[in-house]
Amino acid sequence: MGEKLNRWLEKPVFIYGFGLFFLVFKTAQFFPYFEWKLFLSFLCLYTAITFTVLLIAQKLGSGKYMAGWLLIIWIALLFTSNITRVFIQDFKIFFNITYLLVTVIIVCIFFYLIKKRLNKIFIQRANKLLNIFLFFLMLINLIAGILNANKEKIHAANKSGRCIPIIQHKNDIIWILLDEYGAPESLNDQFQFHDKLVDSLRNKSFYVFDSLAYRTDATIYTLNSLFNLDDSIPITNYQYAAYYLKKSKWVEELEKQGYSFIDLDFLNIGGKEKFININIFPDNYTEKIFNNTFFAILLNNLKGIDDKMRIDDYNGKVIQALTKTVQQKVSYPRFIWSHLMIPHLPFYRNENGSLNPKPLYDPVLYSKAELSKQYLDYVSYANSVVLKILNEIPDRQQKTIIITGDHGARMLVSKNDKQRFETFAAIYYPRMDTTELINIRYLQQIPLHLH
Ligand SMILES: [Zn+2]
Repeated sequence: MGEKLNRWLEKPVFIYGFGLFFLVFKTAQFFPYFEWKLFLSFLCLYTAITFTVLLIAQKLGSGKYMAGWLLIIWIALLFTSNITRVFIQDFKIFFNITYLLVTVIIVCIFFYLIKKRLNKIFIQRANKLLNIFLFFLMLINLIAGILNANKEKIHAANKSGRCIPIIQHKNDIIWILLDEYGAPESLNDQFQFHDKLVDSLRNKSFYVFDSLAYRTDATIYTLNSLFNLDDSIPITNYQYAAYYLKKSKWVEELEKQGYSFIDLDFLNIGGKEKFININIFPDNYTEKIFNNTFFAILLNNLKGIDDKMRIDDYNGKVIQALTKTVQQKVSYPRFIWSHLMIPHLPFYRNENGSLNPKPLYDPVLYSKAELSKQYLDYVSYANSVVLKILNEIPDRQQKTIIITGDHGARMLVSKNDKQRFETFAAIYYPRMDTTELINIRYLQQIPLHLH
């Protein structure tokens, strides 16, 4: 038995094992979408392609090292986004001298081995090592995934006990979320920028916070905690948070009170369809498996989804839809949620709303001065957008209007800087009780104070 296993391990079975590893790796990140039939179909497809390529290579007489080459090709095709991220986004780190030295050494060893012509024993040992390594990597991912899934069960159990107060005067609730809009206090400290939106909103009787905090600085986590009335328990990964958003407890509670929820977001909230799909979080098992692979990137390019202007286009459509929706006259109360990717990167617009000819896409590639200038111009643009929308809301005094960010300006501050977690927030509702609003410390507490 031991002998048999040993001989088997000396063969390049890793090339088939890699397909299984990839599927387990993707599935274990997020189990709720898992489908057996699709899992087996993808595994069969991978195996059939691999088998055919190896067979053809063998027929052509170049099959000796083919399993190794094919493994490199599969890694490039299935982990495309991860690899490009290292080379393009983190390229500053990549050009760090240590990385450069390690790369040079690996490339030298690689060419030395090729030149030396690998002998049979070396190949057998390398096969064995790769097979065992892949097996353990798969096992670790699977166990971590199961442990995370168990941890996530706590969220479902906790959710049932949460509720909001009864809303006495059921007027429309309009929420405008400005992604990456820092707290006025932070904007002042970080950029010596006086935020004029604060003055404009105070003139319109809004209660404007100097700063409101979030416990995280990632959009999907902050929105999940807001929409599920909970910010106490950390979530395993973005995918789980996106999934919980679909089953929003807050939306469920508002609907019970007769509200109709309108989702103007690229995220699927409260079971409503995404307003526009910009392909950020996968919605099913197939999307989950293909997400970040070469095939998904190719498909998105063909569909125009990865177009550089797609977020600007999305913002334009949200503004348009929001303006139209607030003007509609209906006989029931609505909760109109809108999520603008302004002043988030890329900074598509200048202060006056014209297209920025050179919008920044990646903060690591630009100087601090350039980054600050473009960000603040985009903040000023955000201000004019908000004021224009407010002016177009009929009977504005009779509605609840909330304007917030979701985290601070993260581009220029270190990972744990408290300004990353502080954001803009302004509230207006008829018969506003400011003595109550003063007690709000976290943005997630706002739904608990609307009554
Ligand atoms: Zn955000």
